Amino acid sequence: MDILRTENLSKIYGVGDKKVNALDNLSLEIMKGEFVSIIGPSGSGKSTLLHMLGSVDRPTEGKIYIEGTDISSMNETESALFRRKNIGIIYQAYNLIPTLNVEKNISLPMLLDGVKPDKEEFHKIIEMLGLNERLNHFPNQLSGGQQQRVAIGRALIYKPSIILADEPTGNLDSKNSKIILELLKRSNKEYNQTIIMITHDEEVALSADRMLTIIDGKVVSDKVISHENY
Ligand code: ADP
Ligand code: ADP
Repeated sequence: MDILRTENLSKIYGVGDKKVNALDNLSLEIMKGEFVSIIGPSGSGKSTLLHMLGSVDRPTEGKIYIEGTDISSMNETESALFRRKNIGIIYQAYNLIPTLNVEKNISLPMLLDGVKPDKEEFHKIIEMLGLNERLNHFPNQLSGGQQQRVAIGRALIYKPSIILADEPTGNLDSKNSKIILELLKRSNKEYNQTIIMITHDEEVALSADRMLTIIDGKVVSDKVISHENY
């Protein structure tokens, strides 16, 4: 079964002659456990699509189903709760809270719900991310790569079934980009997590299992990527 499906999704920004058709009747289907990259030129609608999938913003028309639930018709309160439990989001700029240490930044989604992270699970995540020695550090004491690993930890803490990543390696050098891609792959395999990653970098896009190309708000190509030669 598909874990995520959009039907004729359209997003129009602005009014009158300032209208921009950021998504144009876009339909797609993503299966549980797929690692999908979305590539396309700047302004093609990638971020807009991710905002719709993460119910950060609403489509002008069309439907979005996540595990059969229509998230496009939820109100703000419902969608915020649904998002926190089911969807982890990773941004290019990390978006950590500067006044919280690593441990608190990672635990944040649970702290907001008054839930304590399970100790064993927490340590498993910290171990995988290589952040054992950094739990008491603050974001400004960390490198970009380390900050992005904290952001991945925060996205993983609820073990959401879907991770949405918007240019997660966009601010990193090639060594740190590789580490982040490897971590996303591990979490994809270990937790059978569905990962949807935006990038404008073809090399990064090719590390996924499937690559969608978006131009002018439409999917123009949908390819399975073979990793046999790696
Ligand atoms: P990408 O992520 O592929 O660079 P975006 O989804 O950010 O593309 O943008 C798609 C189109 O929608 C662009 O023409 C952009 O200028 C426009 N756009 C995006 N967000 C807004 C907004 N909040 N208001 C008006 N236009 C927007
Ligand atoms: P990204 O790197 O995620 O593509 P952008 O620089 O495209 O980010 O957009 C950053 C923010 O600005 C987003 O919230 C987007 O909706 C908004 N935005 C993008 N293009 C426009 C635009 N033409 N007019 C107004 N807001 C825009």
